[in-house]
Amino acid sequence: MRIWLALALVVLAALPARAQSPAADPPPANPLLSEWKTPFGVPPFSEIKSEHYLPAFKVALAQQIAEVEVIAKNPKAPTFANTVEALEASGGLLDKVNGVFGNLTSVETNDEMQAIDREVSPMLAAHADDIRLNEALFERVKTLWESRAKLKLAPDQATLLEKTWKGFVRGGALLSKERQERFRAINAELAGLEVKFGDDVLKQTNSYRLVIDVPADLAGLPERVVGGAADAAKLAGLEGKWVFTLQSPSIWPFLQYAEDRELRRQIFEAYISRCDHGDEFDNKATLARTAALRAERSQLLGYKTHADFVLDENMAKTPAGVYGLLDRLWGPAKAVAAKEAADLQAAIRTDGKDFALEPWDWWYYTEKVRKARFDLDEQALRPYFALDKVREGAFYVANRLFGVTFTPLPDLPVYNPEVKAYEVKDADGSHLAVYYVDYHPRASKRGGAWSNEYRGTWVRDGRSVRPVVVNCGNFSRPTGDAPALLSLEEVETLYHELGHGLNAMLSKLRYNSQGNVPRDFVELCSQIMENWATEPEVLKVYAKHYQTGEVIPVELVNKLKQAGKFNQGFTTVEYLAASYLDMDWHTLAEGKEQAVPAFEDASMAKIGMPKEIVTRYRSPYFRHIFSGGYSAGYYSYIWSEVLSADAFKAFEERGLFDGATARSFRTNVMERGASEDPMTLYRRFRGREPAVEPLLEKRGLQ
Ligand SMILES: [Zn+2]
Repeated sequence: MRIWLALALVVLAALPARAQSPAADPPPANPLLSEWKTPFGVPPFSEIKSEHYLPAFKVALAQQIAEVEVIAKNPKAPTFANTVEALEASGGLLDKVNGVFGNLTSVETNDEMQAIDREVSPMLAAHADDIRLNEALFERVKTLWESRAKLKLAPDQATLLEKTWKGFVRGGALLSKERQERFRAINAELAGLEVKFGDDVLKQTNSYRLVIDVPADLAGLPERVVGGAADAAKLAGLEGKWVFTLQSPSIWPFLQYAEDRELRRQIFEAYISRCDHGDEFDNKATLARTAALRAERSQLLGYKTHADFVLDENMAKTPAGVYGLLDRLWGPAKAVAAKEAADLQAAIRTDGKDFALEPWDWWYYTEKVRKARFDLDEQALRPYFALDKVREGAFYVANRLFGVTFTPLPDLPVYNPEVKAYEVKDADGSHLAVYYVDYHPRASKRGGAWSNEYRGTWVRDGRSVRPVVVNCGNFSRPTGDAPALLSLEEVETLYHELGHGLNAMLSKLRYNSQGNVPRDFVELCSQIMENWATEPEVLKVYAKHYQTGEVIPVELVNKLKQAGKFNQGFTTVEYLAASYLDMDWHTLAEGKEQAVPAFEDASMAKIGMPKEIVTRYRSPYFRHIFSGGYSAGYYSYIWSEVLSADAFKAFEERGLFDGATARSFRTNVMERGASEDPMTLYRRFRGREPAVEPLLEKRGLQ
């Protein structure tokens, strides 16, 4: 604490003279550096302004460096407690500041926040390097690592020691001085490139709109979609027209329903050519440089490629392990997709047309085939999926499985009036977590859906700190008088994110860092939750028509179940293609910049990509791998899906809400985070290693 105060004074003294003028009021305290007296210690959002971040980051970074110096210079011999645990406990203030900033840059961003991000990202990268390249500290960790057999550590402690040791080695601690310098330069440059890549995708996505001013061009579109487009036009000052954008709730329904083929082509091509126009938002050079630098860095550290470097810390372990799984699924998926393409071509003929199927036709004719085959109109489902009911249903499932309850906290501070807060309690009434939900798109919010934390969980000095968790989505908004009515996919996404949320909220971890689960394991808890969303027993509870209160009819549920396997060839092919693309970019054996379109074309040619399907992400806007943390990791969704299909099979065999199975899943997997090897945790729950068959069966790919 004293260290922190001293550092805070240093920073204040460095302020410009204006702030030191005796006549001026003292600057108001920085809320990011104060104790939060809010309920549950959540961030006091309304008090935090953009100008608070940079000074807070500077104080927090300096504070952790000071904490680390104390550990490194400890005259006593290294012990697990005075070195590894002490290091784990350092940086608390940085976690707090970054918890707020990291979350709000995704949901309430603007030019100012993006500028701060660009400034802070390299600072954070350099800071991590500073710690990992502290020689005295490394010597202490090395001593402990070498004597680990004698330390008598509990499993989570042994994991922490190994992770700490590897963190140093992977951070360049074993490198010579000049190699360390190059290593640091690469990290700093990469941090900047990754931020720029993400910013450009967001800006390019927001820069496009398809404006329709003739009602005839809206043919085929459901009323709800037209209403949304009219609202968007009004917001854009184009009252009386209709605006479609590249954001999910706008482009996908357009491609699904718009009869006008030329307009479908236009919006689709705008989508897949994002950041590939040779203008200020073009990402080709950025990503080529990123891939080259990652290859160079991994070789500095003694790994063959970036993928080898990344996978070493994941359940898959090696590129061969990943390619092996992808290859196993690719053949069956492509065969099913070819059948689907033939069905769509037939539907085009039935429609009285004679053109060859193109990528921008896929959604439209799939909808027609779906309707003919299952008579299942997505729009007919939506009235049963009012957002509030869907959320209640997800809470019901969490309660039946794990005994947890959700109590609204209407007065808790939030960062946007659309955000809702809940207290999550365990079956015995004890506090588990604060849970925020933020479900609708805004221009200031990134696309997709995700789960994150403002605060993790840990135990220190016998006191258990509980997490503050947030689920974000870009779900359809309410239109007109109707509540927000979700698509089936959005319903499953809401359950998915709650699964991530529960993974965090149920955690029983001594060490905060062990909340970071390897990404090919982390999707297990989220994907398994999706299964309950469409079980008839659960639908009965929540899927009620928003006007009549009628429960979703049995035949609709049956159709929905059958339709679950529909179009899975396409879905799997476009996903696997992106996974191959990711792996190809990250198995480069030398740090040479590649020509982007040629590299991507070669990658797609190698797997024989069907010409009617485009990879789910093309390189210039593949944010997961060039801006998010999923480089050499996009495969992990399907890896986790193998796990989740196999895990859900246990519930199917023993009962959807079987108490013993749910308890075992909770105590062996959900509570354990990354405190032990994922395969060990999984085997403890399932009694064996995961099998791939339940996934093939689930997707109809057998
Ligand atoms: Zn997920």
